[in-house]
Amino acid sequence: MQAIFDLVRDVPDFPRPGIMFKDITPLLADAAAFGACIDALCEPWRGQGIGAVCGIESRGFIFGAAMARALGAGFVPLRKSGKLPPPVVGVDYGLEYGMDRLEIGSQALAPGERVVVVDDVLATGGTLEAGRRLVERLGAEVIGASVVIELGGLNGRSRWPLPLPLQALITY
Ligand code: IMP
Repeated sequence: MQAIFDLVRDVPDFPRPGIMFKDITPLLADAAAFGACIDALCEPWRGQGIGAVCGIESRGFIFGAAMARALGAGFVPLRKSGKLPPPVVGVDYGLEYGMDRLEIGSQALAPGERVVVVDDVLATGGTLEAGRRLVERLGAEVIGASVVIELGGLNGRSRWPLPLPLQALITY
């Protein structure tokens, strides 16, 4: 995990003043560390009959698609508003400033399908929780969620309905 930690770069004041951005692109570029990261992300979900990994736009696509391949599951994108062709189902959710919307293809998951929701960073928790609600809107079952990085100081985990598992590889 130290190798993964070392490859996440802190970028102060990006994309706005006061934000410390966690840049995961050095981690993606390192074959061994990226492979170890995907193995670790998959670990809790192996043998659990996962049918689909739902990755949240956009960096959740990178980790989620690799996890889906490793788990022998399908990959389903949860996208920002207006990106998926109809028919879609959407949920609105609050961000630190303002609102956003995530959408999923309305036929993308089967009722009862076992799903893991994936994103790169858990900050205030609104995005991941919106992903969970969206999957459940289609009648699929959220088995848990994985993020690479949890920004512990923002307490996003408190928005996630425990005891549903929420895995974070690195917590700051
Ligand atoms: P939340 O809804 O506040 O938990 O924000 C999580 C979303 O914002 C995720 O989709 C992340 O990709 C993005 N995000 C928040 N902070 C960072 C960061 O420091 N680096 C990269 N992405 C971030």
